[in-house]
Amino acid sequence: MLAITLFFIGHWLLSIFFQTFFLHRYGAHRQFVMSHRWERVFYFLTWLAQGSSFLSPRGYAILHREHHAFSDTRRDPHSPLFQKNPLAMMLHTKNRYRDLVQRRVEPEARFASGLLEWEALDRIAHRWSTGIAFGAAYTLFYIAFAPSIFYFALLPVHFLMGPIHGAIVNWCGHKYGYRNFDTPDASRNTLPFDFLTLGELFQNNHHQARMAPNFAARWFEIDPAYLVIRMLAAIGIVQFTADNRAPGTQEGVYAASAQNR
Ligand SMILES: [Zn+2]
Ligand SMILES: [Zn+2]
Repeated sequence: MLAITLFFIGHWLLSIFFQTFFLHRYGAHRQFVMSHRWERVFYFLTWLAQGSSFLSPRGYAILHREHHAFSDTRRDPHSPLFQKNPLAMMLHTKNRYRDLVQRRVEPEARFASGLLEWEALDRIAHRWSTGIAFGAAYTLFYIAFAPSIFYFALLPVHFLMGPIHGAIVNWCGHKYGYRNFDTPDASRNTLPFDFLTLGELFQNNHHQARMAPNFAARWFEIDPAYLVIRMLAAIGIVQFTADNRAPGTQEGVYAASAQNR
């Protein structure tokens, strides 16, 4: 029971951490910088953590930049305003993501600058056999440690971890919660302490100031991933860009970013 609980929570948190830290804040927005070597380390760790539902940083960044540009309009790749339910929304998103990753469609030039690329790893990660190998590893862990067969009902969450996180963030974050800022989209802050998706559910704050590495804007809000990023900055692994250097000037970052929205 303990082993399965730790495995489930660990896989959940690591998968969403690399999504928000590496794919989103670094890959799509470049809120901070890091050396090429660290970039490769985190790219690899993102693949390990996300396993069978790994998202290509290039595909994710284009899709996500489209989301900011067309937020809650018909061209948004995932808006709950134009989809019946989270499943329909994620299928719609998946098709757009697949077309971008397989280069069946060309993104607008404004969404394609400074993309992270590691084609060899992406190719291996997207193979059927790789997905099946990760799925088999999750299943073997459950065979070894699950106290009863009922626990196997959790396995699909491991197989589809990335899309499940995407559905929670993109559906709830534009539908449920409170608003700090009067943004032109439907974005909301769903949880004041986002222990579930490590900061991703501060959608309203993030749409107000997409270059702010701290998704928490008010005194009672806690963005767990930002606390980790500050630690990585303190030991020199990442460096904040000039605008984002001083955490004490958070309000300034929000005010300045809002003007460039
Ligand atoms: Zn959003
Ligand atoms: Zn964003």
